[in-house]
Amino acid sequence: MTYVFTPAPVASVPVAGSDAQFPVRRIYCVGRNYEAHAREMGHDPNREPPFFFAKPADAVVVVPEDTTGEFRYPSQTDDVHHEIELVVALKSGGTDIDEAHALEHVFGYAVGLDMTRRDLQAEAKKAGRPWDTAKGFDGSAPIGPLHRVEDIGQPVQGAIWLDVDGKQAQRGDLRELIWSVAETIAYLSRFFELKAGDLIFSGTPSGVGPVKRGQLLEGGVEGVGQLRLQVV
Ligand code: MN
Repeated sequence: MTYVFTPAPVASVPVAGSDAQFPVRRIYCVGRNYEAHAREMGHDPNREPPFFFAKPADAVVVVPEDTTGEFRYPSQTDDVHHEIELVVALKSGGTDIDEAHALEHVFGYAVGLDMTRRDLQAEAKKAGRPWDTAKGFDGSAPIGPLHRVEDIGQPVQGAIWLDVDGKQAQRGDLRELIWSVAETIAYLSRFFELKAGDLIFSGTPSGVGPVKRGQLLEGGVEGVGQLRLQVV
């Protein structure tokens, strides 16, 4: 079998403490998964079922933990927002996964940013259109290295934060997740067959806001890792 042209390289994320790369299959994202963020976006934080959207696998931009990465300000927007998130990486999957066994499918965790063209998202919401141009643009998923569960355990509490130019922007705690990682995996697996290589961006705490060229974004999740990048 031959391809008519060379296939694009597999998107991947480095695994901390190893030379290996985690190959990315799909990127799923959870919307409004922290109460205070649901409220700041004008929604009732009561426990409505989780909802999901996706980004293309090659939207990941790897930011090594010891360097300052770059986020390229995208086209067709004047209002790009940061959303700091705990990212879950799966080593296996399935359908209708039991919540009690969901965490057995987790390879590890990373710190990521669900960068969002908020102006296009607002237009899409108003018109009842899909969010792809708001959420799935090239470079919309900056991510740090993956930390294996055997190295860091299963993070269920701890600070999640983002500072912009040294000033606090987002601050929350993993305990505030409306839908836990296990619940999210179980719920998502009713809609999609999850597989090894899938990433799940688990939602962002409150304090989202616009970024400008030249700004430094520094964020992290306690017990997982950190991310530093400049908007260019
Ligand atoms: Mn998000």
